[in-house]
Amino acid sequence: MRSKVVVGNWKLNGGLAGNETLLAALLREPPRNGSAACAVCVPFPYLAQAQGMLAGSAIAWGSQDVSRYDQGAYTGDVSGKMVAEFGSRYAIVGHSERRTVFGDSDAIVVEKFAAARRAGLTPIFCVGETLTEREAGGTEAVLARQVDALLDKGGAAGLEGAIVAYEPVWAIGTGKTATKQQAEEAHVFIRGRIAAKEQTNIAARLPILYGGSVKAANAAELFAMPNVDGGLVGGASLVAEEFVAIWQAAGAH
Ligand code: PEP
Repeated sequence: MRSKVVVGNWKLNGGLAGNETLLAALLREPPRNGSAACAVCVPFPYLAQAQGMLAGSAIAWGSQDVSRYDQGAYTGDVSGKMVAEFGSRYAIVGHSERRTVFGDSDAIVVEKFAAARRAGLTPIFCVGETLTEREAGGTEAVLARQVDALLDKGGAAGLEGAIVAYEPVWAIGTGKTATKQQAEEAHVFIRGRIAAKEQTNIAARLPILYGGSVKAANAAELFAMPNVDGGLVGGASLVAEEFVAIWQAAGAH
């Protein structure tokens, strides 16, 4: 039985004062049904603030990316070890915005996944197709390519204890959400692809989150699907009542 996980992705948003207000609100009003795990992935400079406010609470924290390198002459990069030093549990890798805006290839994402692991972080490995790819019937081929890049490097065993997020690019920040059936189909495909490469039930234990305009209004029906193990939440994670309601919906399933 997989438990649910809800992760907020703040993206390039926030500031010390606003973060304090938001985190204080989350701490003040945790969901009544708090059985789902919860985390916020904040911009690097705010990891210390997240640690200071969230340590000892039910909310974990992490980063939205991590360098593929551990140290050295890589100006501007932030290593997994640095992220981990602030008590972080998670690091998102392969978010579609990193892939499309910053050119993170499948190979780079796999290296970032490994770097997060070396630092003791739980990677949240994002995959997903664009609208053009979906309309051309290429959703499964894209997901297979992205998942296989990881499996070919570390095998399915490399996913033990990690998290996968299915995030159709056309649903991110657009207000368009995949239907619960579209999400379930993609999650089943991803789980099956991983299961085909292993014999130890890693795929069955792997949390696969859905991301793409998750809100309080649609979270419950998405999380009710058997293979949707929670959500990676962008815009709605910046609004305390919305995010708490999504966390609550995850705890209810
Ligand atoms: C995301 O940033 O991962 C995301 C899913 O964003 P949004 O919820 O705003 O679509």
